[in-house]
Amino acid sequence: MRLVRFQYQGRPARGLIDGGEVVELEGEGVDSPAGRTARHALSSVRLLPPCVPTKVVAVGLNYRDHACELGLPVPDEPIIFLKPPTTVIGPSDPIRYPAMSSQVDYEAELGVVIGKTAHACSPDAAAGHILGYTCANDVTARDLQKKDGQWTRAKSFDTFCPVGPWIETDLDPSDLLIESYLNGERRQASRTSQFLFNVTHLVSFISRIMTLYPGDLIITGTPSGIGPMQPGDEIEVRIEGIGSLVNTVNAEFGMRNSE
Ligand code: MG
Repeated sequence: MRLVRFQYQGRPARGLIDGGEVVELEGEGVDSPAGRTARHALSSVRLLPPCVPTKVVAVGLNYRDHACELGLPVPDEPIIFLKPPTTVIGPSDPIRYPAMSSQVDYEAELGVVIGKTAHACSPDAAAGHILGYTCANDVTARDLQKKDGQWTRAKSFDTFCPVGPWIETDLDPSDLLIESYLNGERRQASRTSQFLFNVTHLVSFISRIMTLYPGDLIITGTPSGIGPMQPGDEIEVRIEGIGSLVNTVNAEFGMRNSE
């Protein structure tokens, strides 16, 4: 099942993909056919981010090749950091290039969406707390990451976490091809079987630190091949069994004098 959030005639709604259509869902449940109401052509709706996280928990250096590319040692525990919910944008929303940075990189990542509240769950129990999987881009101001010595500013600009286009609920995440394409040219290609820490290990580890709520998003690290984007570029994250997340980069944004 592919779950979406979408805007239709000016209002947000939830739905599932059925061929070229979106079947609108009422209420919170996804399994009850009684909750399935109107159908819309997929082309007639604007897709929103498929989840509304209270937090985005990101994992650094979860592919062996990416740690080597950055010249960093392979970690013996997951390295995690937070991106604020204000970073989250949907498919087709623009990434805004911040005036503070002169190197903004793409990072293709598998996104894990929590379905049931998880607190200190074991790796074996973790799968039962996962709703499904999506494509994500951990956009990073690389120059600021190096300058600041920690990652908050570099990872936290508004629009720095494109997510979508939907949540795939029926998927084994253990060996998926993950790719990124910059202006149609392939820049990253790896498989999730290269993870240093697999999905259930990550959910368990993070849930021992902070309670994960439905809709929370874990982005699981990026493979080698990261690189800069420029205003006007189109960046695509493609994951086997999920689909394709495409965003463009907009020109710099700076300070405003008024609202
Ligand atoms: Mg990352």
